[in-house]
Amino acid sequence: NTPDIATPARTQAILNRYHLAAKKSLGQNFLTDLNILQKIVEAASISDSDNIIEIGPGIGGLTEQLAKNAKKVLAFEIDQNLLPVLDDTLSQYNNVKIINQDILKANLPQVIEDEFEKENPVKVVANLPYYITTPIILDLLKGNASFDQIVVMMQKEVADRLVAKPGSKDYGSLSIIIQYLNNTEIAFEVPRTSFIPAPKVNSAIVSLSSKDSIDNPVFDFDKFCGFVRGCFAHRRKTFWNNLQGVFGKTPEIKQALKLALQEFNIDAGIRPERLAIEQYVELANYFHDKQM
Ligand code: SAM
Repeated sequence: NTPDIATPARTQAILNRYHLAAKKSLGQNFLTDLNILQKIVEAASISDSDNIIEIGPGIGGLTEQLAKNAKKVLAFEIDQNLLPVLDDTLSQYNNVKIINQDILKANLPQVIEDEFEKENPVKVVANLPYYITTPIILDLLKGNASFDQIVVMMQKEVADRLVAKPGSKDYGSLSIIIQYLNNTEIAFEVPRTSFIPAPKVNSAIVSLSSKDSIDNPVFDFDKFCGFVRGCFAHRRKTFWNNLQGVFGKTPEIKQALKLALQEFNIDAGIRPERLAIEQYVELANYFHDKQM
């Protein structure tokens, strides 16, 4: 009986046997704590009817625990050198398929249709490569595939931004863009010592699930994202200053912006982090209507 992959001893043995050095440039930090993996499986409530998409299986530590609990696991790994390793470490699991592709270039709706049975839930579970955490999450949420749940490990600092509430120091455009469509929560935190090699920062597991309904939908999502990012371009400046950064400073525009603030009863001197998500939605739709 082979011991599980995600223990310090077995992970080190695998790295030695294949003469592998973890690639920093690809964000390779391998989890070596079975207790944490078990908690990830629980946070995603994985059952044997679930289909899982994993991003970056590495040497297979998380993949193995997913394979033991789920119906099928489809894992995207960009590093070609890890393919023979995964072939070996996961050889006893017949419900795993590795796809050698950059996740940011994957056509997930197509893959889901080709690989999974329609009636089963689809979840994303991953220990993300930290250098592209935000692009991956935005890609997953903006793409045309829909997921029953997303449970992903990331640097604590980004996790804090994903769950931040108005008025807090971490609340910004990412919080608003993600929380507009999703419920987000930090499931638990993970110390840097749970990995080989240890990353520089602590990590956290974030769980995202799409909201059942959106009361006040945005008219144009891409425009909404651009507007919100613009409003936080200079966090320390007032909302009024940032609005001029987004739309311009001519007298006509300033007049239009003043009217908008009056319409929604917003104080020009407020800081952008004080406004709620619904206020950003209302404002974006208002400016959209005014063709601004
Ligand atoms: N899942 C393993 C674990 O938990 O021990 C490894 C996680 S490691 C933090 C991130 C993994 O993502 C690495 O295996 C890395 O090669 C892979 N990766 C990096 N960039 C990627 C990309 N654009 N698409 C797919 N995989 C990527």
